[in-house]
Parts: sequence; structure tokens; C-alpha cells
Amino acid sequence: MEQFSIERSLRKTLSMSFRQKKLVIKAPFFVTKKVINDFVLKHQWWIESQIEKQKESKIDETKISEYKKQAKQYIIPRVALLANKYGFQYNCIKITSAKSRWGSCTSAKNLNFSYRLVLTPPEVIDYVIIHELCHLRYMDHSKNFWNEIKSIMPEYKIHDDWLKKNAYMYR
Ligand SMILES: [Zn+2]
Repeated sequence: MEQFSIERSLRKTLSMSFRQKKLVIKAPFFVTKKVINDFVLKHQWWIESQIEKQKESKIDETKISEYKKQAKQYIIPRVALLANKYGFQYNCIKITSAKSRWGSCTSAKNLNFSYRLVLTPPEVIDYVIIHELCHLRYMDHSKNFWNEIKSIMPEYKIHDDWLKKNAYMYR
């Protein structure tokens, strides 16, 4: 059985929760140890699923910081290279944790890219970079904006469709 601590109070019912990854049972003063043990046993499945979840999120955090490092190492120089090649001027680049957007461009000419991009194919990363660079010239999705992308990356539509189709996997 899982280790747990018991907190007695004037409450009328039993409850369980995790506090800093430790199982805590809140119990009324009158309830016996046996009743508490039975309560914990009865909720064993829930307890195990909570512990599993905590383990998963720990792995995720390590992975995320690794992806962020990769994103900084890959995306920032790649933006610099493509901007230089096609004559774009930007202010600064930030790697974000954005879930719903791959990249964004502010009116102050700052570019943001989600670290999740490092999980997509390199040509898709290039497309997102070029997309945001073109927003430095057109702050909208007008015909001129798409024409600008097309002049740099004629096959851009394939990558745009790829992102639309696969975005759900990265959220
Ligand atoms: Zn856009």
C-alpha cells in the first residue's frame, strides 16, 4: 500500500489528495485507522494513476527544456540566415511555449517561434520562418503577403497544409 499521512480535523468525511507528491488523507477525529486503510485500498487505482501522471509530467519537463535548447540552437541562426538571404530586417527573436501558433511577428519587428517547431520537418521550419519574415513586410494575410512567400518558397502550400493537418499532434 502507498505511504500516506493522516490529517485529522472536525470534518465529517474522508478525502484524499496529493500535496508535494505525498498522499494526504483528511479524516474526521472519530474514524479508525482501519477505516482509513480500507478507504486508501479502495482508491488504489486512482492513487496509482495520479503517481503515473506525476512521473509523466516530470519526463515532459526535461524533454521540453531539451526541445527549447534545440530550438534556440537551430531556429535563431536559421532565421538570421534566411533573413539575410532574402533581405529582411528584424529586431529580436524569442523562443516561446506557444501552443496554438508556430510563430508570430510583432509591429516592433520582433519574431516569436514556438519550441514545438523543432519537432517538425526542417522544410516546415523554413516555411514558418519565411512566413513570419514576410509579416515584417505585410502585417496581414493579404494577397501581397502570400505572393511574397510564393516568390521565396514556391512550394509553400505543401508545408502550410502539412501544418494544418498535423498541428493537433503538437498541442
Ligand atoms: Zn501569418
